[in-house]
Amino acid sequence: MENQKKKIAILGSTGSIGTQALEVISEQNAFLEVEVLTANSNADLLIKQALHYKPNHVVIADESKYLEVKDALDPHDIKVFAGNKAIEELMEITEADMVLTAMVGYSGLKPTIKAIENKKRIALANKETLVVAGELITQLCAQNRVDLIPVDSEHSAIFQCLVGENLDTIDKVILTASGGPFRGKKREDLLHVTKAQALKHPNWSMGAKITIDSASMMNKGLEVIEAKWLFGLQKNQIDVVVHPQSIVHSMVEFNDGSIKAQMGLPDMKLPIHYAFFFPQRVQTDFKRLSFKDYNTLTFEEPDPITFRNLGLAFEAMDKGGNMACILNAANEIAVDAFLKDKIKFLEIAELNEKCMNLVSFIERPSLEDYVNTDEETRRIALSLLS
Ligand code: NDP
Ligand code: MG
Repeated sequence: MENQKKKIAILGSTGSIGTQALEVISEQNAFLEVEVLTANSNADLLIKQALHYKPNHVVIADESKYLEVKDALDPHDIKVFAGNKAIEELMEITEADMVLTAMVGYSGLKPTIKAIENKKRIALANKETLVVAGELITQLCAQNRVDLIPVDSEHSAIFQCLVGENLDTIDKVILTASGGPFRGKKREDLLHVTKAQALKHPNWSMGAKITIDSASMMNKGLEVIEAKWLFGLQKNQIDVVVHPQSIVHSMVEFNDGSIKAQMGLPDMKLPIHYAFFFPQRVQTDFKRLSFKDYNTLTFEEPDPITFRNLGLAFEAMDKGGNMACILNAANEIAVDAFLKDKIKFLEIAELNEKCMNLVSFIERPSLEDYVNTDEETRRIALSLLS
């Protein structure tokens, strides 16, 4: 029945995760419908999506695009707002049952907090939210009895392995990493790599920021911190293994020595679909994995000397406080600078490390402290670049 459809808010609908989520909703339109769509500045695509999916509310963060979006959608009875604050405020009034956080970077933090405070179930793609403020977010979820369902393929894999298990029986989780386009390379091979080379991911097609993060192994570092908060783990309970085929999405080792893995083709629609329907598993037409096509699955140790970011993430996690927030903000500036050809590839990790040493450390940060840390780090990172 129409009124029993699950209403989904997609924050970042014009991105890689957002557009794949809309495909999932189209395929499952007997059960799912779109309540909210938001974008940063891609007004054309946002309008197209809204005309097709007919949400109640649409937000364009870039206020200069407001009239364009409003004029296009007003006649269709779709309410349009503009500005980042509007995305947060909408989380207080929307009737969405679930919020998919598919914005990129720090921009996801405040809307996610507002959605949790308003008791919306979260499908979390925006890993940076947990990296920046994992302690605060997990506490808020507990207070508001809100479930945080991971969309990141590795964390969805771990989450699926843990269904029916007691978290106390986890010995460790093993996050798989594809190794990205520079797997097997040494530092001297990476001195002059270009943005075009870094943007060529072997297995996944994703937004620019996460693709660079994958090439520098920062993505896996962010995922280590994400796993800590999602599953309540200690540093020595998280391992990373490079698995170039991206078929085993991650694993859990239990206290009896047994290891569970979740496998499938590398397709983000699978974890998005799982998050939308959890705890149910629902039939799909997604392409099936055939072991005839993948007769060799390989695993190798990551190279922490070449890919310094992975070690920095473990250090930030170990240190706690606002250190991961510092690392995240520095990395957002560094990736942006690399994408604008202002710094070289290896300088991304160098800038991250410098900021971790320079920005004021706060042991028990409040939300305000995280906001100030993010600002301070961006200021210092930019001054180091000029
Ligand atoms: P994209 O860059 O493809 O899309 C980002 C989306 O967020 C777009 O809709 C963009 O709007 C919007 N957006 C960007 N900045 C802002 C801002 N400041 N304020 C409001 N909206 C903003 O990213 P992805 O889809 O690749 O990634 C989204 C998140 O999911 C990231 O946190 C990423 O780490 C995570 N993730 C992604 C995976 C993937 O396969 N892509 C896999 C696992 C996790 P506009 O189009 O207008 O710029
Ligand atoms: Mg991932």
